[in-house]
Amino acid sequence: MSLNYEDCLALLEEIRWAGKPKCPYCESTNSRILKNEHRYQCNECFTSYSVTVGTLFHKTHVELHKWFLAIRLVLNTPGGISVRQLAKEIGVNKNTACYMIARIRNAIPEERELLLRILEMDTY
Ligand SMILES: [Zn+2]
Repeated sequence: MSLNYEDCLALLEEIRWAGKPKCPYCESTNSRILKNEHRYQCNECFTSYSVTVGTLFHKTHVELHKWFLAIRLVLNTPGGISVRQLAKEIGVNKNTACYMIARIRNAIPEERELLLRILEMDTY
C-alpha cells in the first residue's frame, strides 16, 4: 500500500509542526491556509510555503511516498542498499536513485530527527 501525496504531506506536517504550521523563513506561526491545500501564507513575511521547505524533500520531483520508502531502505538495509536495488524497489531510474541515496545520506546529520520520525511511521 502506498500513501497519496496529501497523506504524505499531512504526516510530514504532523512530524515537523505537530499540527501548527511554522514559516520556514521567519519562524512565525501566524499564517493562513491557502486554497491550494497544504500550502500556507505567512502573515509576517508574506511568503507562501509548504511543509517540505527546508527538508530533503524540497524541490524534488519524486513522489513523497517513494522518498519515505527510500529512507527506510537506505537506513535499514544492512550494509547499505545499492543504486540498482533502490531503483528497482521504488520504481525510479538509476540517476534518480543515486541522487536520492546521496540526499538521504546528507540528511542523516542535519535532519536526523525527521528521518527517525519517518522511520517510526508504519503506515506505508
Ligand atoms: Zn514568514
